[in-house]
Amino acid sequence: MTRIRHFTHPSCYLTRTCQQSFICNGCGVAGYGVSYRCNSCDFDLHEYCARCPQSLSCSMHSHCLTLTQSGGCGRRCSVCCQATSRLVYQCGPCGFVVHPLCVQGRRW
Ligand SMILES: [Zn+2]
Ligand SMILES: [Zn+2]
Ligand SMILES: [Zn+2]
Ligand SMILES: [Zn+2]
Repeated sequence: MTRIRHFTHPSCYLTRTCQQSFICNGCGVAGYGVSYRCNSCDFDLHEYCARCPQSLSCSMHSHCLTLTQSGGCGRRCSVCCQATSRLVYQCGPCGFVVHPLCVQGRRW
């Protein structure tokens, strides 16, 4: 699939593209290589951020995590301890947030 819609950028299609480097407008983390991009808005997402599931259970937390763009509200990622941006996996009741890429087990 080379053209997708994503809930973080509902007004436009994102096109699969390959770049030297970019900053993901979802999770705020730098990326290299493949991204999903809206040229007219200069909007980029990591391939993983664009394709990852809305909810998932993972070994690092006992509850189901939900993908949200309301952000970590200044909280730090529980895996890498770096600041989070808009797009995070969170467990609301626990205040647990992680970058999508950290859930996947790699930074980018
Ligand atoms: Zn990202
Ligand atoms: Zn756009
Ligand atoms: Zn992280
Ligand atoms: Zn929890």
